[in-house]
Amino acid sequence: SVRWGLIGASTIARQFMIDAIRAQEGGEIATVMSSSPERATGYARENGIPAAVSSLDALLGSGIDAVYISTTNELHLEQALAAIKAGKHVLCEKPLALTSADARKMVAAASAAGIVLGTNHHLRNAGAHRAMREAIAAGRIGKPIAARVFHSVYLPENLQGWRITKPQAGGGVVLDITVHDADTLRFVLGDDPVEVSAFTQAAGMAGSGLEDGAMCIWRFKSGLIAQSHEGFTTRFAGTGFEVHGSEGSLIAGNVMTQKPDGSVLLRTAKGEEQLSFDREDLYVRSVRRFHAAIRGDGQPSATGEDGIWSLASAEAALQSASSGKAVKIDPKL
Ligand code: NDP
Repeated sequence: SVRWGLIGASTIARQFMIDAIRAQEGGEIATVMSSSPERATGYARENGIPAAVSSLDALLGSGIDAVYISTTNELHLEQALAAIKAGKHVLCEKPLALTSADARKMVAAASAAGIVLGTNHHLRNAGAHRAMREAIAAGRIGKPIAARVFHSVYLPENLQGWRITKPQAGGGVVLDITVHDADTLRFVLGDDPVEVSAFTQAAGMAGSGLEDGAMCIWRFKSGLIAQSHEGFTTRFAGTGFEVHGSEGSLIAGNVMTQKPDGSVLLRTAKGEEQLSFDREDLYVRSVRRFHAAIRGDGQPSATGEDGIWSLASAEAALQSASSGKAVKIDPKL
């Protein structure tokens, strides 16, 4: 069995990860930690978690094997380093930290300690994205030439907090959504981005100098170019992911989401085909792979290195937006 401690009384844990952990054979949530004792107790009661604590030491001393970190982004580094030091496996939310340099510290510490560190990039677990990755690897669209990611959504009212008001907590749409798009592009294409040029905007929701919309243009190692659009303020946009190759196009709709939804169309000279794919819950699969990695069977769906890549990519996008120049992406791995 794997006994988990939750670091952070968060929405994402309540909505998805608590159930995903409990869906595993031997997956147990032993303790939740919140910075506020009242919130810890309330959260534990509402979610049937046996123990509630309000310090990291108490959490790490509570007989757990692994931690799931879903606090605000500025806290991930210190919490992950403490958990690694205590010998706990770490599944950390994205972005791993506020800078790729800090994310590298986490990965180095985990690897020195022989600890499993995963980044919770849920979209790698979507059947739609795995089907696209397999179709591309099998040559079904020929040579990939260009990709387009449509991931501009409406930030729900209950989440209109630190993401749009707190730069020091790692707010803004780039650290929130561009990291996912950079990771999903890498995963689906089996390629790495080398350079990005980005424009960001504040379209009415974010304050404090934060951005709530971004458009990025990416160049990949293979020469492929991609565009991605991330936003918090477009209520009616819908999401999608397209990859266009020399022999065909993959056109996916409603796939940049937390649910195993959407469709993937393959269009070639032979006509159109809807790809079928598995509809397993994304977060259940993420935890399943993480549990397997703890047993020494494979790696988490997204590793710590993948988390460095996505953060280095987002960091470069932010630098580009503020400098007005294209910026090279270097994860320093
Ligand atoms: P929340 O805002 O729900 O929670 C973040 C922190 O805010 C909590 O740890 C909690 O601190 C504090 N908090 C929560 N409620 C209150 C309150 N009423 N008053 C004061 N503080 C409160 O964040 P999310 O769940 O949306 O995101 C958490 C992390 O997960 C982020 O890193 C985010 O990027 C990531 N995320 C990832 C997703 C994915 O699909 N991979 C999806 C959504 C988020 P405390 O623990 O101290 O109580």
